[in-house]
Amino acid sequence: MVDHIVKILNTKQITDNVKSFLVEKPNNFNFIPGQAVDLSINLPDYKNEKRPFTFTSLNEYSNLEFTIKIYNERNGVTKKLGELQNGSELILSDPFGAIQYKGKGVFLAGGAGITPFIAILRQLKKDKALKGNTLIFSNKTEKDIILKEEFDQMKKEGLEVIYTLTRELNSKYENKRIDEDFLKQKINNFNQNFYICGPIRFVGELTSILIKLGANPDSVIVET
Ligand SMILES: Cc1cc2nc3c(=O)[nH]c(=O)nc-3n(C[C@H](O)[C@H](O)[C@H](O)COP(=O)(O)OP(=O)(O)OC[C@H]3O[C@@H](n4cnc5c(N)ncnc54)[C@H](O)[C@@H]3O)c2cc1C
Repeated sequence: MVDHIVKILNTKQITDNVKSFLVEKPNNFNFIPGQAVDLSINLPDYKNEKRPFTFTSLNEYSNLEFTIKIYNERNGVTKKLGELQNGSELILSDPFGAIQYKGKGVFLAGGAGITPFIAILRQLKKDKALKGNTLIFSNKTEKDIILKEEFDQMKKEGLEVIYTLTRELNSKYENKRIDEDFLKQKINNFNQNFYICGPIRFVGELTSILIKLGANPDSVIVET
């Protein structure tokens, strides 16, 4: 694996604790939507602290974008990332696996687990292929929903979008955790692809439920 040193070009606050980072793209650097890199900060105390982050840009863009949840309470890499200014250097590995699109299906995301689906859905939008796909996006509160406006626009272009909030009662949204009843109510065909990304428990529980409800284990594509 080759290390690539790149500069931060710009940052943008997306929600209270999520920031997007526009970053230089190394030469001859290619990836598939859903892929990630190991990223560290090019500072003496941080350069060996590698953490995985997913591209939310498309391969054809001239720069890279990451969408990162900042954990200020942990004193780790994301806290430091949140403090970096434009021009700061990051070290990126080559892209690696994780979730990739295998065909129409249901995307189940918990919080920052949406990131691989941002890239995949942006690619489908560009290819005019959103129709027939469903996004079920669970968040604690309305203000935690990452890129809601963009997903609402995708809804107009054929993506079915269901938001659910687990810690806020709000009549504009579903107000429950994604569980067996929720999936039975919202999904009438379990013979399709399911893409799941979020906290480990979210991924584990939903995988078991989907298989119980008839999904083919080979069609349940997960990332934690
Ligand atoms: C393939 C892959 C792709 C990913 N893509 C993205 C992405 O695009 N965007 C994104 O936001 N995230 C993504 N993640 C998750 C991301 O990698 C983590 O959020 C990140 O590594 C956290 O780094 P950190 O150093 O800030 O915190 P950590 O490494 O979690 O922790 C730093 C310190 O806090 C302590 N700590 C750990 N957990 C807790 C806790 N629950 N409470 C209190 N203290 C704790 C640790 O012991 C450590 O000392 C991805 C993960 C994977 C596996």
